Amino acid sequence: MGYVEWNCPKCGKKNREACNAWVYGSPIRNCKACNQEYFDSRWREIALEGVEPATKSPKLYLIATIVFLIFTVACVIWLITDIRTMGSYPDKLAGCVLVGAIGTIGCFVIFLRIVLGYEDKQNQKYYDESLQRMNDKSYVEKLISYGYNVPEKFR
Ligand SMILES: [Zn+2]
Repeated sequence: MGYVEWNCPKCGKKNREACNAWVYGSPIRNCKACNQEYFDSRWREIALEGVEPATKSPKLYLIATIVFLIFTVACVIWLITDIRTMGSYPDKLAGCVLVGAIGTIGCFVIFLRIVLGYEDKQNQKYYDESLQRMNDKSYVEKLISYGYNVPEKFR
């Protein structure tokens, strides 16, 4: 899970919305403050742009998990050595351990989600929602008017 933030171009209020890691959803958003719509190109119509290739590659995340793990272990060893020899450790090193641990867990969770088919199921849900929006001609026209590249078959 993640968040995207955007200052509404109409009223300037900050909108904070939950999204998945690849920001699948309609790029036409509604401002929570003034209720006017605006275009946020970070959101992706998955029916048009396709599934993020990385979500189909568990190997990528397994490698990332191992790299993060090695980094974390190396930092922990360094930290323990510092404590033994000097009785203290630099704050930066503790930060590295924390970042390494979060990276390890984060990548491993995504790896599991792909392997267990959960990622596919989620993608399918987003895909169906996206396809439903694309069946609405006025919605497609609006996307085009905002400069979104809509393939011929949806026009
Ligand atoms: Zn607004």
